[in-house]
Amino acid sequence: MARYREAKCRLCRREGTKLFLKGERCFRDTCAVEKRSFPPGQHGHNHRPKTVGYGVQLREKQKVKRIYRVLENQFANYFSKADSMKGITGETLLMLLESRLDNVVFRLGFAASRDLARQLVTHGHVLVNDKKVDIASAQVKQGDVVALRESVKKNQQVLDSVGSVGGRGGVPAWLDLNADALKGTVLSLPKREDIQMPIDEQLIVELYSK
Ligand code: SF4
Repeated sequence: MARYREAKCRLCRREGTKLFLKGERCFRDTCAVEKRSFPPGQHGHNHRPKTVGYGVQLREKQKVKRIYRVLENQFANYFSKADSMKGITGETLLMLLESRLDNVVFRLGFAASRDLARQLVTHGHVLVNDKKVDIASAQVKQGDVVALRESVKKNQQVLDSVGSVGGRGGVPAWLDLNADALKGTVLSLPKREDIQMPIDEQLIVELYSK
Protein backbone atom coordinates (compact mmCIF):
# COMPACT_ATOMS: atom_id res chain seq x y z
CA MET A 1 0.00 0.00 0.00
CA ALA A 2 1.31 3.45 -0.93
CA ARG A 3 2.40 5.58 2.00
CA TYR A 4 3.73 9.00 2.85
CA ARG A 5 7.51 8.68 2.97
CA GLU A 6 8.46 12.23 3.95
CA ALA A 7 9.34 12.94 7.57
CA LYS A 8 6.18 13.98 9.41
CA CYS A 9 7.50 17.16 10.98
CA ARG A 10 8.73 18.37 7.57
CA LEU A 11 5.15 18.10 6.32
CA CYS A 12 3.94 20.33 9.15
CA ARG A 13 6.69 22.84 8.53
CA ARG A 14 5.92 22.84 4.82
CA GLU A 15 2.28 23.67 5.56
CA GLY A 16 3.26 26.17 8.25
CA THR A 17 0.92 24.64 10.81
CA LYS A 18 0.66 21.72 13.18
CA LEU A 19 -0.89 18.71 11.47
CA PHE A 20 -0.65 16.54 14.61
CA LEU A 21 1.03 13.58 12.93
CA LYS A 22 3.19 12.37 15.84
CA GLY A 23 0.83 11.83 18.73
CA GLU A 24 1.90 13.12 22.13
CA ARG A 25 4.98 14.90 20.82
CA CYS A 26 2.78 17.33 18.92
CA PHE A 27 1.53 18.70 22.24
CA ARG A 28 4.99 19.28 23.69
CA ASP A 29 7.34 22.19 23.17
CA THR A 30 9.63 19.83 21.24
CA CYS A 31 7.20 20.13 18.29
CA ALA A 32 9.22 21.13 15.23
CA VAL A 33 6.69 23.80 14.21
CA GLU A 34 7.07 25.46 17.62
CA LYS A 35 10.86 25.39 17.34
CA ARG A 36 11.28 26.23 13.63
CA SER A 37 8.29 28.05 12.22
CA PHE A 38 9.66 28.26 8.67
CA PRO A 39 9.49 25.74 5.81
CA PRO A 40 12.13 22.98 5.60
CA GLY A 41 15.02 23.08 3.17
CA GLN A 42 17.95 25.30 2.32
CA HIS A 43 15.82 28.34 1.47
CA GLY A 44 13.19 27.80 4.13
CA HIS A 45 14.35 30.83 6.14
CA ASN A 46 13.77 33.13 3.17
CA HIS A 47 10.38 31.70 2.24
CA ARG A 48 7.68 34.30 1.53
CA PRO A 49 4.23 32.70 1.61
CA LYS A 50 1.89 33.35 -1.33
CA THR A 51 -1.25 35.10 -0.16
CA VAL A 52 -3.69 34.59 -3.03
CA GLY A 53 -4.65 32.30 -5.88
CA TYR A 54 -3.66 28.85 -6.99
CA GLY A 55 -0.73 28.48 -4.57
CA VAL A 56 -2.93 29.02 -1.53
CA GLN A 57 -5.61 26.63 -2.83
CA LEU A 58 -3.01 23.97 -3.56
CA ARG A 59 -1.45 24.31 -0.11
CA GLU A 60 -4.87 23.92 1.53
CA LYS A 61 -5.50 20.70 -0.37
CA GLN A 62 -2.03 19.39 0.52
CA LYS A 63 -2.62 20.25 4.15
CA VAL A 64 -5.91 18.34 4.36
CA LYS A 65 -4.46 15.34 2.47
CA ARG A 66 -1.60 15.24 4.93
CA ILE A 67 -3.80 15.60 8.01
CA TYR A 68 -5.90 12.62 6.97
CA ARG A 69 -2.93 10.77 5.44
CA VAL A 70 -4.55 10.14 2.08
CA LEU A 71 -2.78 10.22 -1.25
CA GLU A 72 -3.56 12.31 -4.32
CA ASN A 73 -5.85 9.88 -6.16
CA GLN A 74 -7.73 8.91 -3.02
CA PHE A 75 -8.25 12.58 -2.21
CA ALA A 76 -9.52 13.32 -5.72
CA ASN A 77 -11.97 10.42 -5.32
CA TYR A 78 -13.20 11.84 -2.04
CA PHE A 79 -13.72 15.21 -3.69
CA SER A 80 -15.64 13.73 -6.61
CA LYS A 81 -17.83 11.73 -4.22
CA ALA A 82 -18.49 14.86 -2.12
CA ASP A 83 -19.30 16.83 -5.26
CA SER A 84 -21.90 14.27 -6.30
CA MET A 85 -23.62 14.27 -2.90
CA LYS A 86 -26.25 16.68 -1.58
CA GLY A 87 -25.03 19.54 0.59
CA ILE A 88 -22.06 21.88 0.62
CA THR A 89 -19.24 20.13 -1.22
CA GLY A 90 -16.37 21.31 1.01
CA GLU A 91 -18.18 20.33 4.20
CA THR A 92 -19.20 16.97 2.74
CA LEU A 93 -15.57 16.35 1.78
CA LEU A 94 -14.46 16.91 5.37
CA MET A 95 -17.32 14.76 6.69
CA LEU A 96 -16.24 11.87 4.43
CA LEU A 97 -12.62 12.14 5.56
CA GLU A 98 -13.57 12.48 9.20
CA SER A 99 -15.80 9.36 9.04
CA ARG A 100 -12.99 7.09 7.87
CA LEU A 101 -12.52 4.21 10.26
CA ASP A 102 -8.85 5.02 10.93
CA ASN A 103 -9.83 8.59 11.85
CA VAL A 104 -12.57 7.33 14.19
CA VAL A 105 -10.08 5.05 15.94
CA PHE A 106 -7.80 8.08 16.33
CA ARG A 107 -10.60 10.37 17.51
CA LEU A 108 -11.72 7.83 20.10
CA GLY A 109 -8.18 7.95 21.47
CA PHE A 110 -7.30 4.29 20.80
CA ALA A 111 -4.19 5.60 19.02
CA ALA A 112 -2.29 8.85 19.47
CA SER A 113 -1.96 9.55 15.74
CA ARG A 114 -3.80 8.66 12.56
CA ASP A 115 -0.86 6.56 11.37
CA LEU A 116 -0.99 4.44 14.52
CA ALA A 117 -4.76 4.20 14.19
CA ARG A 118 -4.38 2.99 10.63
CA GLN A 119 -1.97 0.30 11.83
CA LEU A 120 -4.48 -0.90 14.41
CA VAL A 121 -7.10 -1.18 11.68
CA THR A 122 -4.99 -2.79 8.97
CA HIS A 123 -3.48 -5.28 11.42
CA GLY A 124 -6.99 -6.50 12.21
CA HIS A 125 -7.32 -5.19 15.76
CA VAL A 126 -10.53 -3.20 15.20
CA LEU A 127 -14.11 -4.42 15.25
CA VAL A 128 -17.11 -2.60 13.84
CA ASN A 129 -20.39 -3.94 15.21
CA ASP A 130 -18.47 -7.02 16.47
CA LYS A 131 -16.98 -7.83 13.06
CA LYS A 132 -13.34 -7.36 12.12
CA VAL A 133 -12.82 -4.53 9.63
CA ASP A 134 -9.26 -4.07 8.39
CA ILE A 135 -9.88 -1.39 5.76
CA ALA A 136 -8.68 1.96 7.06
CA SER A 137 -10.83 3.91 4.61
CA ALA A 138 -14.07 2.13 5.59
CA GLN A 139 -16.77 4.71 6.34
CA VAL A 140 -18.56 4.53 9.66
CA LYS A 141 -22.29 5.12 9.95
CA GLN A 142 -24.48 6.52 12.67
CA GLY A 143 -24.98 3.86 15.34
CA ASP A 144 -21.85 1.88 14.51
CA VAL A 145 -19.91 0.55 17.49
CA VAL A 146 -16.15 0.62 17.04
CA ALA A 147 -14.16 -1.52 19.46
CA LEU A 148 -10.73 -3.04 19.92
CA ARG A 149 -10.18 -6.79 19.88
CA GLU A 150 -9.27 -8.50 23.13
CA SER A 151 -5.75 -9.08 21.78
CA VAL A 152 -4.83 -5.38 22.13
CA LYS A 153 -6.98 -4.34 25.06
CA LYS A 154 -4.06 -4.71 27.45
CA ASN A 155 -1.54 -3.11 25.10
CA GLN A 156 0.18 -0.37 27.12
CA GLN A 157 0.45 2.00 24.14
CA VAL A 158 -3.31 1.75 23.62
CA LEU A 159 -4.08 2.22 27.32
CA ASP A 160 -1.74 5.23 27.54
CA SER A 161 -3.29 6.71 24.43
CA VAL A 162 -6.86 6.39 25.73
CA GLY A 163 -5.76 7.75 29.11
CA SER A 164 -4.32 10.88 27.52
CA VAL A 165 -7.01 11.58 24.90
CA GLY A 166 -8.25 14.54 26.96
CA GLY A 167 -4.88 16.23 26.53
CA ARG A 168 -5.16 15.84 22.76
CA GLY A 169 -8.44 17.71 22.57
CA GLY A 170 -10.75 15.00 23.85
CA VAL A 171 -13.32 12.85 22.08
CA PRO A 172 -15.56 14.86 19.72
CA ALA A 173 -19.27 15.20 20.47
CA TRP A 174 -20.31 12.96 17.56
CA LEU A 175 -18.60 9.98 19.21
CA ASP A 176 -19.20 8.41 22.60
CA LEU A 177 -16.27 6.63 24.24
CA ASN A 178 -16.56 3.85 26.80
CA ALA A 179 -12.94 3.96 27.94
CA ASP A 180 -13.25 0.93 30.24
CA ALA A 181 -14.58 -1.32 27.49
CA LEU A 182 -12.38 0.32 24.82
CA LYS A 183 -15.32 0.82 22.55
CA GLY A 184 -17.02 3.82 21.05
CA THR A 185 -20.35 4.58 19.42
CA VAL A 186 -20.91 6.83 16.44
CA LEU A 187 -23.71 9.04 17.76
CA SER A 188 -24.04 10.94 14.49
CA LEU A 189 -21.97 11.69 11.44
CA PRO A 190 -19.56 14.60 12.01
CA LYS A 191 -20.70 18.13 11.24
CA ARG A 192 -18.48 20.97 10.12
CA GLU A 193 -18.33 22.46 13.61
CA ASP A 194 -17.01 19.14 14.95
CA ILE A 195 -13.82 19.54 12.93
CA GLN A 196 -11.62 21.97 14.81
CA MET A 197 -8.53 21.93 12.59
CA PRO A 198 -7.84 25.24 10.83
CA ILE A 199 -9.09 24.23 7.37
CA ASP A 200 -10.59 26.46 4.68
CA GLU A 201 -12.30 23.81 2.57
CA GLN A 202 -13.70 26.39 0.16
CA LEU A 203 -10.16 26.87 -1.20
CA ILE A 204 -10.10 23.17 -2.11
CA VAL A 205 -13.47 23.44 -3.85
CA GLU A 206 -12.12 26.40 -5.84
CA LEU A 207 -8.99 24.42 -6.76
CA TYR A 208 -10.97 21.50 -8.15
CA SER A 209 -13.42 23.81 -9.92
CA LYS A 210 -10.73 25.26 -12.20
FE1 SF4 B 1 3.82 18.28 13.29
FE2 SF4 B 1 3.63 16.86 15.49
FE3 SF4 B 1 6.02 17.15 14.29
FE4 SF4 B 1 4.82 19.18 15.59
S1 SF4 B 1 5.58 17.27 16.49
S2 SF4 B 1 5.81 19.28 13.62
S3 SF4 B 1 2.65 18.85 15.10
S4 SF4 B 1 4.22 16.09 13.49
